[in-house]
Amino acid sequence: MRKQTLRFSLLLLLVNQLIQIPAQAQPDRWQQKIRYQINVNMDVTTNRFAGTEKIEYWNNSPDTLSRIFFHLYWNAFQPNSSMDVRSRELGKTVLREPSRGNDGLDWDARVKDRISKLSPDEIGYQRVKSVTINGVKQSLKEHETILEVVLAKPMMPRTKIAMDVEFEAQVPVQIRRSGRDNAEGIRYSMSQWYPKVVEYDYQGWNANPYIAREFYGVWGDFDVNITIDKDYFVAAGGDLLNAADIGKGYANTTPKPATNGKLTWKWQANNVHDFMWAADTNYKMITRTTANGPLVRVVYKAVDSLESRWQRVADTAAFAYPIIAKTFGPYPYKTYTFIQGGDGGMEYPMATLIKNASIGTAIHEWMHSWYQMMMGTNESLYPWMDEGFTDYATSRVMAEMRGRTGFAYDGTYRSYFNLAKSGFEEPASTHSDHYNTNFAYSAASYSKGAVFMEQLGYIIGDKVRDEVLLDYYYQWRFKHPNPNDFIRVAEKRSGMELDWYKEYWINSTKTIDYAVGNISTQNGKALLSIKRLGKMPMPIDVLVTYKDGTQEMHYIPLNLMYGAKPTESQIPRTTHEAWRWTHPEYQFPIQKNIQDIKSIEIDPSMRLADVNRGNNRLVIPD
Ligand SMILES: [Zn+2]
Repeated sequence: MRKQTLRFSLLLLLVNQLIQIPAQAQPDRWQQKIRYQINVNMDVTTNRFAGTEKIEYWNNSPDTLSRIFFHLYWNAFQPNSSMDVRSRELGKTVLREPSRGNDGLDWDARVKDRISKLSPDEIGYQRVKSVTINGVKQSLKEHETILEVVLAKPMMPRTKIAMDVEFEAQVPVQIRRSGRDNAEGIRYSMSQWYPKVVEYDYQGWNANPYIAREFYGVWGDFDVNITIDKDYFVAAGGDLLNAADIGKGYANTTPKPATNGKLTWKWQANNVHDFMWAADTNYKMITRTTANGPLVRVVYKAVDSLESRWQRVADTAAFAYPIIAKTFGPYPYKTYTFIQGGDGGMEYPMATLIKNASIGTAIHEWMHSWYQMMMGTNESLYPWMDEGFTDYATSRVMAEMRGRTGFAYDGTYRSYFNLAKSGFEEPASTHSDHYNTNFAYSAASYSKGAVFMEQLGYIIGDKVRDEVLLDYYYQWRFKHPNPNDFIRVAEKRSGMELDWYKEYWINSTKTIDYAVGNISTQNGKALLSIKRLGKMPMPIDVLVTYKDGTQEMHYIPLNLMYGAKPTESQIPRTTHEAWRWTHPEYQFPIQKNIQDIKSIEIDPSMRLADVNRGNNRLVIPD
C-alpha cells in the first residue's frame, strides 16, 4: 500500500491486536497511550496564558503506577536553572581558537549565559495549579522542569484515568526553540508549551530535567483550542477543525466575528507525541499539494524581499516528497506545515519551526517526520537514531533532488573523522544530556549516526539497506524503536548477524583503519595482504585493477557476520573465506602475477569510515 490514511492504519493496528497475528510485522511491546484536550487563552500584552488540560491516560504497562511525571520545560528559562548552569559550564570548555565571531567555546551560541540575565517579565514558566482525578486533588511536587504527581490512589496495570490539569504560563523571551519575539520578529513560537506527561516505558519513567536537549513523548491524540487576539494568524502541527470560522486562507470564508476581540482556533492532531503552534500578526500562508502525499503549508512573515525564497521552500517540499516517500515510506498525515519561528530549525509532529527559508534546513526538519515523529525513538538515550538517521536522509534526498550521483556523504564522514581525532569523542550510546561537550554530542549524534546508516550499506549492500529502511518504517512507526530493534530488522532482512556493528560503532569509540599490506608471490601468483590497524573489525572490499584495464573485486566477509552481502556492481567479485576478527592480518591469492597489478584499493566506494585512508590504496609504479 502506498497511500494509507491514518485512520486506516490505526484500524489495522487494532485489528492486528485483536486477532493476534503472530507476524513479525507487529513487535510485541506495550506502550502507554494518552489523549489531551487542551484549552488556552493567550494574553498578547502580558505574554501569559492560562490553560486547562483534560487528559485521558492509559496505563498499558504491567506495572502499578504510584506517581505520574509531567514536563514543565519552560521553567528552564530562569536564572540558575539546570539549563542555565549547564550552558555556562559548557562555556568553560575551549574547543578551538576564537575566530570570526565564534568564541571557540563549547556552549550553544544561542544560549550562552543569556538565561542568567532574564528579568522576571522575560523568564519562562509553567505553573501547574492543580491536578484532579475524579474530583480528588493530587499532591504535587515541583522539581524545576519536572512535576511529580503523587497519586492519591495508585494506578493499576491496564487501566485508564482522567486527569484535569489547571496551569498558567509565561512565554519566555526567545531563547531556545520556543519563546516570543525571536530574531526574525515572530511573536510566538509555541513549542514545549503545555504540561506534558512524561513517557513511561519498559525502562520506566523518562523524567529527564530539561537542559535544552531532547524529547520523548507518549503516543496519543491532541485536541487543542487556542484563544488569541483576532489579529493573530495561528499555524500548528495539526488540522484546523473550524477553518470555516477562521477563514484567513484555511477556508475561503468570512471569519466568524471575534468574541472580546479574540478568536478560538480548534486544532486536532491524532497519533502523534507532541503538539506545537505559532502565532504572529503578519504571517502569510502558501500551500502546495504533493503526489499521493500531504498538503504542504508554508507559513512565514510577509517580507517582500524574502517572498521568492519561501515560495522555493514550498516548491522544493512538493518536489521532494515522492523521492522521500519511495525511500523512507509514505507520510501518513493529511498536512505538513513549515512555520517560520524559533531560533534555527526544530522538528515537531506534522510541522517544523524554521527561522529562515533554508532549503537544507527545511528538508532536514521534514525528514524528522520519519525519524522521531513516526519512529518515536527515545532521543535522550538514542539521539543518533533521530538526528543521525535524519542527517543521512537529508544528504540523500538533497543529492537525489539535485540529480547528483556518487558519494553524497563526504561532509558527514569528515565531521565524524574530525570527532574521532579530536580527543573529545564519547560513545554514541552516551545519554544525550550527559555528554561532556556539546561538540561530542552533536558530532556523534548527527554525523556518526548518519555514517552508521551509510556504512550499513557497505556491510549488507545498499539495496538491502534500503529494504531495511522500509521494513523499519512499516514495523516500527507509531512505536518507540530502540537500537536493538533497528539492528534486528537489519539482521532479518540481510540474513546476517549485525550485533557487533552496533556494539562497536555505537557503544564504543573504537575506530576503523585498514591498510594494504605486502604483496608476495605464491605458486607464481600474487598473494595480497590486508592489515587491520584499527580496533574495530569490518568486512573488506578490495578492488584490484590490472595494467590491462580489467578489474576484480575481492570481498572478505567478517566472521562475526555469518553471511555475505550480495554483489553490488558489474565488476566480477570473488568472495573469500571470512576474516576472523581476532586476526590482525589477512592474505588472499589472486589469479595473476605481481607484474600485472596496477593498483590495490580498499573500499573504493568510500562508505567504510576508515580514519586513515592514506594507507588504503597502493599504486604499483610501471
Ligand atoms: Zn535534526
